[in-house]
Amino acid sequence: MTCIFCQILARELPGEILYEDEDLGVINDINPEAPVHLLIIPKRHFDSLNSLDDKTAQIGAKMFLAAKKMAEAQGIQSGYKVLINNGREVGQEIRHLHMHLMGGWGRRPVRK
Ligand code: AMP
Ligand code: ZN
Repeated sequence: MTCIFCQILARELPGEILYEDEDLGVINDINPEAPVHLLIIPKRHFDSLNSLDDKTAQIGAKMFLAAKKMAEAQGIQSGYKVLINNGREVGQEIRHLHMHLMGGWGRRPVRK
């Protein structure tokens, strides 16, 4: 059975994909803990960061660069944080490697 993130990125489940390229997809976290809370997800399934090795390390680099670009696109480049939970004991819920990108606390509210 494929996991929920594989299904979202394959468009087998609904979910707005904010950005994608050949390696990654980016979605909004369904339960945000920050004004901007995105998930940067490799298209290839890796259970966790522990699954990366010398051959696949480039995926990790691409995730960091995508975080930087998405922070710029969201207007939070002056302050944001990234987080990868690795393992159930630290709260990894979804067993498909992903990076949280969070920020926007100091962002000026949009005036209407
Ligand atoms: P983690 O605890 O690091 O595995 O993070 C999993 C994250 O995925 C949590 O912040 C959830 O809110 C989020 N999440 C779970 N299901 C979905 C979904 N269908 N679409 C978007 N985000 C999700
Ligand atoms: Zn998966």
